[in-house]
Amino acid sequence: MKTPSEFELIKQYFSALTPSRDDVLLGIGDDCALLQTPTGKAVAVSIDTLVSGQHFEPNTSAYDLGHKSLAVGLSDLAAMGAEPAWFTLALTLPGVDVEWLQDFSRGLAALAGEHGIQLVGGDTTSGPLTISIQVHGFTDVEHTLKRSGAQSGDMIYVTGTLGDAGAALALAKGDAKLAAALNLADRDYLQQRLNKPTPRVDFGEQLAGLPTAAIDISDGLLADLGHILEASGKDNKSLGARIDLARLPLSAALQKLPIEKAQQFALSAGDDYELCFTASPAEFGCLQADFADRCTRIGIVDSQAGIYRIDDKGKLVTITTEKAGYEHFTSS
Ligand code: ADP
Ligand code: MG
Repeated sequence: MKTPSEFELIKQYFSALTPSRDDVLLGIGDDCALLQTPTGKAVAVSIDTLVSGQHFEPNTSAYDLGHKSLAVGLSDLAAMGAEPAWFTLALTLPGVDVEWLQDFSRGLAALAGEHGIQLVGGDTTSGPLTISIQVHGFTDVEHTLKRSGAQSGDMIYVTGTLGDAGAALALAKGDAKLAAALNLADRDYLQQRLNKPTPRVDFGEQLAGLPTAAIDISDGLLADLGHILEASGKDNKSLGARIDLARLPLSAALQKLPIEKAQQFALSAGDDYELCFTASPAEFGCLQADFADRCTRIGIVDSQAGIYRIDDKGKLVTITTEKAGYEHFTSS
């Protein structure tokens, strides 16, 4: 088969891939896309880049990569309570592999279709496999969820289960002890959680206006909750949190691991793309009534900086783990 040119490639794999929206006046094919913004709304914008070998294992399937590279952006929109609208895609490819492109575009299209988000442009270059996606969504300014706004006494919630992606990554890196504790179905489940995360878009939108602060968990609970506590502090003083470790939501697969190990994944491993949010005690009834099946209360915001647990004797103990979240530029 003849190798398609860049233009053929875009036309074949990306031009009519995603839902076609009325607010896209001009999509792929010109120098810019033209987008009609709704009156009274703000546009929420976020970009994420996935680099092969750094953000995903080089052997990750193209379909899953298509899903994941959009899911991480949708998760940012979810964390702000924004409604997905458009995205652009900058694709750097080591070569033209039509089978890879077909699978990648299918994975991307399936998730885009679920959320009504349209691909409106991008860039295609040659180099080591790298995928950048910029997402755009709409929010009501007064209902936007931000990292700042948490207050001492607020309750802390998370969606879904935590630590699954971290456990999957440890399995992929060859953790034999971990593999031995799990059966094939567990390992498959964890792998899916790593490669095909579910961005909590609907939940974020429904929640908008209720939480005092919110973030998506991409770098691990301790690190991302830490961002809320820091952003919500006043006079250069961070807030703190008390976490009830026994309440950390763990999947059936993670519950098969020694509890400390499972909790360590849940606290510090990244890539879960669940939401963490804080809400005032006054909202407890509403959360119980409408959202209880989709989130878990794990602790409380405190005026004392640091993230603590309460030990058997009722004393506050700082939660420490081997690694609090993923940092790109640290050498250790
Ligand atoms: P320019 O040279 O003006 O930047 P390009 O040749 O890069 O334009 O792209 C042509 C059209 O195809 C543009 O509308 C651009 O947004 C779109 N495009 C390029 N690469 C992609 C991609 N990977 N996915 C979606 N659209 C793309
Ligand atoms: Mg270009």
